[in-house]
Amino acid sequence: MTSAIGVAMTEHIVAGSLQEDNGQMTVVGELSRFPADAAETEALVGVTTSELYEQLASQILPLIQSQQHRVATVGVAVPGVVRNGVVEDAPNLTQIKGIRFGDELAAVLRNRGVDVPVHILNDADAVAAGLASRGGNLDRMTRVWTLGNGIGYGRWPISDGVWEGGHTVVSLDPKERFCGCGGLGHIEGIMGNRAMRLRFMDMEPEEIFAAAKSGDARCRDFVDLWHRALAAGCATAIHLGGPGRFYFTGMNIRFLDLKLLREHLEKMVRMSPLQSYSLEILPSEDAVSVLGAGVAALRAQREW
Ligand SMILES: [Zn+2]
Repeated sequence: MTSAIGVAMTEHIVAGSLQEDNGQMTVVGELSRFPADAAETEALVGVTTSELYEQLASQILPLIQSQQHRVATVGVAVPGVVRNGVVEDAPNLTQIKGIRFGDELAAVLRNRGVDVPVHILNDADAVAAGLASRGGNLDRMTRVWTLGNGIGYGRWPISDGVWEGGHTVVSLDPKERFCGCGGLGHIEGIMGNRAMRLRFMDMEPEEIFAAAKSGDARCRDFVDLWHRALAAGCATAIHLGGPGRFYFTGMNIRFLDLKLLREHLEKMVRMSPLQSYSLEILPSEDAVSVLGAGVAALRAQREW
């Protein structure tokens, strides 16, 4: 029987075991999580890479040791551009930029007596893979926006390319400079949690959205901009890749108003063959990312 370990490293680290059940991979047993407090969103910022490897190994090793079956691979989802095993950029976890993160982690595990390949992939791609796998739709295109500190755009099947949809330019205003990557006018510079803190120095994101509800004009304008930015990102994805289903997940779906998003999107996509899209909010579920990381790793190894 095939088994794998899936790990998602975003604002926190979650890891779990996957096993095949009736031709489908499923997450079995408890997920391990660091930090334990889900409200802590900056725990990994500034942690050194060797501390990250230690933390990951301390979560992965017990999972491997508790498996009765051979673990074929470990899949690790990371927040950044991943190509050919290298994290080419990671604006929200800068310490892993330029590193062959999977190979390095595999070496750390080997030093602890466990020889297993480690496959890395973009965190939003892992969510798309997990959703596709859970729905039995691994043969269909799935696209997902993850709304967190950064804005991720994930696709399954994973295809060659960069796909940094969160850095789609949606504004030509030179004052739009809050993106974690430093680029002007990006979706993440408007919608990202950290970008919102930089824009409203004296307010937390939840306070901004609450103030908008109670009529504060500046906050209301911003909430509208926030939704228009996401609509623009979807519109661009539709104009390039066609209509279809978009999922939204991540901690900040709590701010997302689908009706408002749809109103803006309808004004941006006017060609009738492109209007058959659908929009769906999915509560953040660590198990989906863990599943997707493991499934993508197995597919990359051609083990499943
Ligand atoms: Zn950017």
